[in-house]
Amino acid sequence: MTYRVGVVGGGQLARMMIAPAVELGIDIRVLAEAEGMSAALAATQVGDYRDADTVLAFAREVDVVTFDHEHVPQPVLHALLEAGVAVHPGPAALEFAQDKIRMRTRLAELGVPQPDWAAVSDADALQQFIDEHGGRAVVKTPRGGYDGKGVRVVEHGTEAADWFAALAEDARGGDLLVEELVDFRRELAQQIARSPRGEVATYPVVETVQRDGVCAEAVAPAPGAGARLADVAADMARDIANGLGVTGMLAVELFETTDDRLLVNELAMRPHNSGHWTQDGALTSQFEQHLRAVLDLPLGLTTPHAPWTVMVNILGGPAEGGLAERVPAAMSAHPAAKIHLYGKDPRPGRKVGHINAAGEELDEVAYEARAAAAHFD
Ligand code: ADP
Repeated sequence: MTYRVGVVGGGQLARMMIAPAVELGIDIRVLAEAEGMSAALAATQVGDYRDADTVLAFAREVDVVTFDHEHVPQPVLHALLEAGVAVHPGPAALEFAQDKIRMRTRLAELGVPQPDWAAVSDADALQQFIDEHGGRAVVKTPRGGYDGKGVRVVEHGTEAADWFAALAEDARGGDLLVEELVDFRRELAQQIARSPRGEVATYPVVETVQRDGVCAEAVAPAPGAGARLADVAADMARDIANGLGVTGMLAVELFETTDDRLLVNELAMRPHNSGHWTQDGALTSQFEQHLRAVLDLPLGLTTPHAPWTVMVNILGGPAEGGLAERVPAAMSAHPAAKIHLYGKDPRPGRKVGHINAAGEELDEVAYEARAAAAHFD
């Protein structure tokens, strides 16, 4: 027999599942949104993931369906379950990654520490929250946001008028999420895998650096993270993975506050940018671990290869010429850096690849990763 995994979505996360699938002899198939996407190499089908018939036809060829993104609509996910398809993560868990208000509500029920928040239906309610939280707050669209799109720092209830108007037009209606503006020292991320049989495996907590709302770098482990911080982060991720019934990889994005608390920012139920370091820095990469978890295979060890691993994103790529032209010089100058390219055309701000470097000295490892990434600017 051969294990067969179907990935809905043809982006770079699906692409990076292909290498470990090949190594493990797993038959991986991708339902891509269009021709020529990052995961085109394994795209057996091109179609609309919002169409239940399309996804059902794709699912018939595989043992389990998983995802490159969290946007597959709930009715489509339920149609898969009704047809007897194994879906990981399942719709009940994915719902909390699809809707930030649902996530906040559920995390509150579980007693997980998070920023003060409220669901607000109009400018007056938003203004009231702002007034109660020092004159500023963070407003978020509950659905469809990514890379900082759908996140706005506001001082006046009127500053989200366009989003309230858009929700009023949306058949699903609903509220905006507002959160206290967290005074954080830095952002962290905790990766955990959980399989349907309930086995879990946590990775070392990492520090992430965002620029313009986009992840720019990750350092593993988070510098200065003692055993206590590492344990608290891992325990929070375990509580969330179990409490939400997540299967596959879960990334928990965290704020480390200036008064030393860890608060959950948001959740991703798939391999995540903050976990790309594991490809070259841990015994089992997040992509292999995701495949193991969704197939309910035993999970792999997450032990790091080296004291430090740094991941630097290649954002945008060169203004002229392709990424490939830059590869020889980057390789020549930085033979220890691991280059990962997503097969995408350069475009300002777009995630087109990343560099991993690992080693004994954090300064040297960070330099290596940043300098190698700079070859692709
Ligand atoms: P997205 O879903 O677009 O990634 P996030 O909710 O992760 O949006 O927010 C993007 C970034 O905005 C975060 O990484 C963080 O830097 C900042 N941010 C989000 N929420 C808050 C908050 N409550 N307080 C302070 N900064 C925040």
